[in-house]
Amino acid sequence: MRKWGKTQTMSHIENLLPLVKRNEQKEFQKVAFDFAANEMAPHMAEWDQKEIFPVEAMRKAAQLGFGGIYVNPDVGGSGLSRLDTSIIFEALSTGCVSTTAYISIHNMCAWMIDTFGNNEQREKFCPDLCSMQKFASYCLTEPGSGSDAASLLTSAKLQGDHYILNGSKAFISGGGDTDVYVVMCRTGEKGPKGISCVVVEKGTAGLSFGKKEKKVGWNSQPTRAVIFEDCAVPVTNRLGAEGEGFSIAMKGLNGGRINIASCSLGAAHASVLLARDHMCVRKQFGETLSNSQFLQFKLAEMATKLVASRLLVRQAAVALQEGRPDAVSLCSMAKLFVTDECFAICNQALQIHGGYGYLKDYAVQQYVRDIRVHQILEGNDFFCLIHVSEIENFLEPSVILTFRHKKDAT
Ligand SMILES: Cc1cc2nc3c(=O)[nH]c(=O)nc-3n(C[C@H](O)[C@H](O)[C@H](O)COP(=O)(O)OP(=O)(O)OC[C@H]3O[C@@H](n4cnc5c(N)ncnc54)[C@H](O)[C@@H]3O)c2cc1C
Repeated sequence: MRKWGKTQTMSHIENLLPLVKRNEQKEFQKVAFDFAANEMAPHMAEWDQKEIFPVEAMRKAAQLGFGGIYVNPDVGGSGLSRLDTSIIFEALSTGCVSTTAYISIHNMCAWMIDTFGNNEQREKFCPDLCSMQKFASYCLTEPGSGSDAASLLTSAKLQGDHYILNGSKAFISGGGDTDVYVVMCRTGEKGPKGISCVVVEKGTAGLSFGKKEKKVGWNSQPTRAVIFEDCAVPVTNRLGAEGEGFSIAMKGLNGGRINIASCSLGAAHASVLLARDHMCVRKQFGETLSNSQFLQFKLAEMATKLVASRLLVRQAAVALQEGRPDAVSLCSMAKLFVTDECFAICNQALQIHGGYGYLKDYAVQQYVRDIRVHQILEGNDFFCLIHVSEIENFLEPSVILTFRHKKDAT
């Protein structure tokens, strides 16, 4: 049986991990990994157990440009690509999945305002969001409309120069603690074409919040219902035209799916290394677990699945950046495949820890708890399959060839 020590394992496992080509990307990947290791990882257990929303740590992340990664620089964003964003969220997530996932939702909201807002709206909201002086929430889901989001009922009736909102949103990440709510509401007919998107600011009369939900994971970010009771929102806060809200929401989610999948990559990445470290120190049957060929194979399989997952996320990110026709489906495929695979990798890493993996003293259990929800939200797996049903479009080898020839492809 081949024996392997920690140093040898480092070269086998860690060399597989970066997959980043351009020097500039390597630099901000390092900045994100360092931030994760120094500013997040030491606190992630405490944030989880005490349910702390780490505002100051996120503001520090924003100082590095992570508050508006793919927002335009003229309103305070970093102007980076979707591929760059994926690299950053994977790295940050190694330090705390839950906090990074919230930062990813915040980024999605800032991008929606930057992309679909007029100049006045962009200048009003984006700078404070990019610096994370203010925090944002994305409000689509309702108690009666989850997967079938287009059936939402929150109404917005035009009265003079205001919309009067009535209804409620469920499961809103950051809800109650955030300042800017990007809300999908019904201004017209049934179905997606009757939906508009408005920005509601905290402090608006008629806006209130439900109790903080108790969750399995994602505990460093609050989740609450967001309630509208005769909540008057200026018409000037509408993003895009009336009836464009559902399309805006879905365009936000295309990037959101890559971001959430990238957070899953970070969790799997960290978990593979934790499993490797545990195997190097835990002795059973007179030798370390790292001498078990079965566990060596397991670890190799986990690393292989991680690298395969990463390639799919990166390909979807490049497709979205380039506005390719297959982008929406690739984002869904990446989200579907990667959130499942990465959950399985983290779970296997917990298994390798044996009973210790089930103790809160060991970080691996938090990665498992935190990424479970990635399989449920931002277009759950069933919803993803609706896009994936256009399967014949993906059987052509040209999809792969296109990817290989792009300079940004990793
Ligand atoms: C921690 C957390 C944070 C969240 N944050 C946000 C947020 O910030 N903003 C936001 O808008 N939403 C948020 N959500 C909501 C999330 O997007 C929804 O939970 C998700 O879309 C699923 O909706 P649902 O929970 O109503 O499940 P349902 O739609 O009721 O689905 C239940 C199950 O049935 C399956 N299913 C549904 N329809 C069918 C069908 N026709 N055939 C077969 N299977 C079907 C689904 O795949 C799922 O497995 C969050 C959720 C959680 C748990």
